[in-house]
Amino acid sequence: METSATPTHCPYCALQCGMNLTPAPDGGVEVTERADFPVNRGALCGKGRTAPAVLSSRVRLTSPLVRSRDGALRPAGWGEALDRIAEGLARARVAHGPDACGVFGGGGLTNEKAYALGKFARIVLGTSQIDYNGRFCMSSAAAAGNAAFGLDRGLPFPLEDVPRTGCVILVGANPAETMPPSLRYFTELRENGGTLIVVDPRRTKTAEQADLHLAPRPGTDLALALGLLHLVVAEGRTDEDYIRRRTTGWEEARAAAMAHWPEYVERITGVSVPQLRQAVRMFCEPESAMVLTARGPEQQSKGTDTVGAWINLCLATGRAGRPLSGYGCLTGQGNGQGGREHGQKADQLPGYRKLTDPEARRHVAEVWDVDPDSLPGPGRSAYELLDALGTDVRALLLMGSNPVVSAPRAAHVEERLRSLDFLAVSDVVLSETAALADVVLPVAQWAEETGTTTSLEGRVLLRRRALAPPPGVRTDLEVLHELAARLGVEKGFPTDPEEVFDELRRATAGAPADYSGITYRRLAEQHGVFWPCPSENGPAGPTESDTATVTGTGTRTDADADTSTSTSTGTDTDGHPGTPRLFLDRFATGDGRARFAPVSYRAAAEEPDEEYPVLLTTGRVVAQYQSGAQTRRVDELNTAAPGPFVELHPRLAARLGAAEGDPLAVVSRRGRAVAPARITTAIRPDTVFMPFHWPGEGRANTLTNPALDPTSRMPEFKVCAVRLEVVRP
Ligand code: SF4
Repeated sequence: METSATPTHCPYCALQCGMNLTPAPDGGVEVTERADFPVNRGALCGKGRTAPAVLSSRVRLTSPLVRSRDGALRPAGWGEALDRIAEGLARARVAHGPDACGVFGGGGLTNEKAYALGKFARIVLGTSQIDYNGRFCMSSAAAAGNAAFGLDRGLPFPLEDVPRTGCVILVGANPAETMPPSLRYFTELRENGGTLIVVDPRRTKTAEQADLHLAPRPGTDLALALGLLHLVVAEGRTDEDYIRRRTTGWEEARAAAMAHWPEYVERITGVSVPQLRQAVRMFCEPESAMVLTARGPEQQSKGTDTVGAWINLCLATGRAGRPLSGYGCLTGQGNGQGGREHGQKADQLPGYRKLTDPEARRHVAEVWDVDPDSLPGPGRSAYELLDALGTDVRALLLMGSNPVVSAPRAAHVEERLRSLDFLAVSDVVLSETAALADVVLPVAQWAEETGTTTSLEGRVLLRRRALAPPPGVRTDLEVLHELAARLGVEKGFPTDPEEVFDELRRATAGAPADYSGITYRRLAEQHGVFWPCPSENGPAGPTESDTATVTGTGTRTDADADTSTSTSTGTDTDGHPGTPRLFLDRFATGDGRARFAPVSYRAAAEEPDEEYPVLLTTGRVVAQYQSGAQTRRVDELNTAAPGPFVELHPRLAARLGAAEGDPLAVVSRRGRAVAPARITTAIRPDTVFMPFHWPGEGRANTLTNPALDPTSRMPEFKVCAVRLEVVRP
């Protein structure tokens, strides 16, 4: 074990807070402050502070498990476990073809693992059937960002710009609970004279900090954005010069917005016309402003259109691709950004290259030393893949995900997983999904292995190994190496993360998410490097849709110069400095202009009716993370957030005859969940809220609707119709 503090980053959310890991007396590590990392400046939430507890948890897996004839999981050696997985995958492939093998990844996997997993699926298994849980996280924002700007990077500017802008609209984001250290950016914004508008059906801890809280009915954010744009036009607040010089598609988008009268929008959303007018004033009067979205508007069956409408608001007012202005998405998972760039998404090759682009296939196939024609085409999206288990897809390899808790319509997903011919899961603990597997592999996590992640800012970071994994545990890269060899591919799956990263750099050279100029050495010396960061010796000429040349990378603007002192973007001797701010010169589209989205309002896939009269929305609490597979194993976090609950308004509680703490059954067309009532005026009377971190009786995702956005294939986690019943003894 290292003897001194190891500077690294948190295993959980996309803020990727800097922390030091210091040897602890019990042989493990403890978290100590790392004040030099500029994003969190030493601050951590409870999840980050307690993260080492998972590594030494009494339920930590330290031996492979295989299912025996009697149906129970029993400890086994690595050789037997890996042989069983190779056999299970090979059998499905021989019997039903390569697409009978599925691969499901996760947004918490490092860039190296995500890259290796995508490569494994496509050249070892030859399957198109790979996707990952990040599809559930921010794919609608990615789709809308790509459509509007030609490129998706969560934030096209560093967080340090937030306190210096004039107004921020936070849509469906609750950073006070999901990433608490980031709240200081919004506090500083207000201290500097800027204003904060929060859009959320609940008066969250974040909304309590806002100058203006708009509480639309769940599923109506699209109408709200259109109504605001209508008023922007009606009040003559558009930036016509900007629209002319830097955008296309305004006339169509404008016409669509003008059909959304404020009074009509008030009827749909429940947000009053005076509040709409106030929001427009606050957003338009300062010189600069931003819109930041999170899962609220994105996890809808119209999430792409909804984000597109918020981007339209930015474009119409000249607030994108300018200093201190723009649209951004607050990515959720620890490597939600990098995880969607390097090939574990159904339609992508590393570097954000498209699987359907012949030139992209040629480039990546050359790096992988395979025939481009041997690469499969795009596969199914995450929910569609889970839905196909046991029918078209007969064997599944799953890494870093727990869909039994996190997928929509979870009881159905659980049933699909059970119907597989073969399931293999690698994880750190026996998650609810791992418990269904035929083989479970105990793998190293976070502080036990080195790797890179890419934060919500697009900042590539180095997580360093601080201690050895327990005996009996291997890394995911070792697992893929061994499985590839057993399936006949002896080369191309190194186990050293830096070697994998160097290959990833070559695979992404010239691509939209170009990492070719980033090295472990640079990451070790700096506080991360923002992509795109092309290598000086990289291949010539990105293609039309590529970014490295069209976003003005390497062109130092005044704004970039400010950043270089505080975010260490590199030195001349390092080559390309990285790109903290995108789009300042032009957007990453063929003509350099941003594209308006011609969108109109439509209702959620499921609206309340007589049978299911209440809206359910789901989300997170501060002390738990995603499916809770890790955080539910930490005593301190369990004490703070021991279980699910149903948040409801006193008027709704009175109608039901429910008192605080009463067990409430929440019933949707997909199933029934039971959790205690938590009565508060902080929620709309027509809506209930459930956090989704828990399995079992209180599993919120038993209820959620898998209706998919037609573009992003994102399920509608944020709104469905339910009825409530008090459960009497
Ligand atoms: Fe970790 Fe996110 Fe908490 Fe920071 S805010 S400590 S990255 S979970």
